[in-house]
Amino acid sequence: MFEVKTIAVLGAGQMGGGIAQVAAVAGLDVLVYDSFPGAAEKCQSTHRKSLGKFVEKGKLSQAEMDAALGRVRHVTSLDALAGADWVVEAVVEDARVKKELFSKLSSMLKREDIALATNTSSISITEIAASAGASAGRVVGMHFFNPVPLMALVEVIPAMQTSKEIVERTVALATRLGKTPLKANDRAGFVSNRVLMPMINEAFYALMEGVAEAEAIDGIMKLGCNFPMGPLRLADFIGLDTCVHIMNVLADGLNNDRYRACPLLKQLVTAGRLGDKSGRGVYEYPGK
Ligand code: NAD
Repeated sequence: MFEVKTIAVLGAGQMGGGIAQVAAVAGLDVLVYDSFPGAAEKCQSTHRKSLGKFVEKGKLSQAEMDAALGRVRHVTSLDALAGADWVVEAVVEDARVKKELFSKLSSMLKREDIALATNTSSISITEIAASAGASAGRVVGMHFFNPVPLMALVEVIPAMQTSKEIVERTVALATRLGKTPLKANDRAGFVSNRVLMPMINEAFYALMEGVAEAEAIDGIMKLGCNFPMGPLRLADFIGLDTCVHIMNVLADGLNNDRYRACPLLKQLVTAGRLGDKSGRGVYEYPGK
C-alpha cells in the first residue's frame, strides 16, 4: 500500500516552513530545500519558536517537539531530494521559477507514485503541470493556508492532467497532516481567493470612497460577519502587493474587469506600504 514516509518541501519561507513543521509533527521525515543561503537557519528558528508555543500551551510534549525537530533535514541541492516520496513546492509565487522547478523535478523523481504538489495561491495548476511534461498527471494543487500550523484547510486542486489516484492521495495526506482537504477546480483564484479577494478589494473601495474609516470597516465586518479580523487588517497580513497580484490573476483569468484592483490598493503598493511586512499598509506596525 502506498504510504508517504519522506516528504520534500521546496521553499523554506513562511509557507514551506509551516508545511515542513506540520509534516514533521505528523511523523514524516522532511527534506527542505531553499535556494537562499540563510533560509534554513531562519526556518529552524521559526520551528523552535512555533513548536515551543505548542509545548507551552500543553498541546505537544517537549519530547514530541524534539522528535519533530529531529525529523527535519535542510538540504542544499535539489538532487538531495531523491529519497522523497512526495513533493510540496512552496517557493516564490513566480510562474517562471515554478515551471523551471517542475520541469527539473519531473526528470529527477521518476517514480509514477510520487506526487508533485504545488502550494501556489494563484498560478494555474494546469499550466504548472504542463511544464512537468510526461509527469503532468502527478502534479496537483495542495493549497495550505497561513499560518500553516494553525489553519485547518487544504484546498486540493487537480490540474486538467492530474490522475484520480494522485487526487485521492493528496486528500489522504492532507488528512494525515491533521488538515481538512476540500476540492476546488483549477479556475483563477480557486475558491478561497475567488471569494476572499473581491471582498478585500471592495473594502478598499469603501475606504477610498469614504464610506467609513478603516477601523470602522474592519469593525463592522468583524462584528457583523463574525470574522476573526476585518478585510483591511487581513490585507495587511497577506501583503498588499500579493492582493494586487491576485486581483490581476482574477481579472486576466476570468477575463472580467470587475476584478481589477482598487486604485487605492495599487497606490498604497506604489508607495511601498505593503502591510505588516513593510511596517505600514492600511495600518502602522511599528517595530515590524
Ligand atoms: P516566502 O517568500 O516566505 O518563501 C518563499 C521561499 O522560496 C523563500 O525562502 C525563497 O528563498 C525560496 N525560493 C525562491 N526561489 C526558489 C527556488 N528556485 N528554489 C528553492 N527555493 C526558492 O513565500 P511564502 O509566503 O512562503 O509563499 C510560498 C508559496 O506559497 C507561494 O507560491 C505563495 O503564493 C503560496 N502561498 C502563500 C500564502 C501566504 O499567505 N503567504 C498562502 C498560501 C499559499
